[in-house]
Amino acid sequence: MNQSESSDMLSRRSLIAAGAIAGAGLFVARASAATREVSSAPAEAQKGAPFTQPPLPWKDDALDPVISAKTISFHYGKHHKAYIDNLNKLVEGKPYATMTLEEIVKASAKVEADMGVFNNAAQAWNHDFYWHSLAPNAKPPEGKLLDKIKADFGSLDECKKKLSDAAKGQFGSGWAWLVLEGDKLAVTKTSNADNPIVHGQKPLLTIDVWEHAYYLDYQNKRPDYVQALLDKVLNWEHAAQMLG
Ligand code: FE
Repeated sequence: MNQSESSDMLSRRSLIAAGAIAGAGLFVARASAATREVSSAPAEAQKGAPFTQPPLPWKDDALDPVISAKTISFHYGKHHKAYIDNLNKLVEGKPYATMTLEEIVKASAKVEADMGVFNNAAQAWNHDFYWHSLAPNAKPPEGKLLDKIKADFGSLDECKKKLSDAAKGQFGSGWAWLVLEGDKLAVTKTSNADNPIVHGQKPLLTIDVWEHAYYLDYQNKRPDYVQALLDKVLNWEHAAQMLG
């Protein structure tokens, strides 16, 4: 999913909420076709709400054994879903209800009274981005992305080391990111729900380092989870699409 597709999908959700297009059923139908049992329940529960949980881009066992289907079923079906359910309640009757998710993240980031809106909107956004940052049979970066990695980090190994250090070094819950800052690639980390788009950066990839992302499979060994992700399922094709 590239950025225009992503914002199109999110805009479309707002349109769905307004009942402005007849294609709403297609979106929900795609949700059930793309995933197994975890996908249909959220879509059903969120029927008619401003935001609907997007489908996983692969089956819930597709990343096994790096990330088990059990972890995905809780992470997508409980944690990610809860952020969207909470957001739907929090935006009810507010101008936020007609915005795209990205617009809500940006608009609520600095509003102290709306931290609940920001936290749930950003976590909804971050998780959708995380699923697209992972892929079974992930291939190493190539072409323009690889050239840029070499120009901005020196080597792919150095880029991966910086991502690994950020993911392992984030104290407590949060995220590690590969971002475009100005015209340079950079690695950053954020706490809790915080997101690079509110800091003027463009996310290309993310790694969720909240314990719920890895505890069932790796218990307290976050470095093992991070290494397995970097070695086997980090979706560099998604980063290339985001780079454009
Ligand atoms: Fe998470």
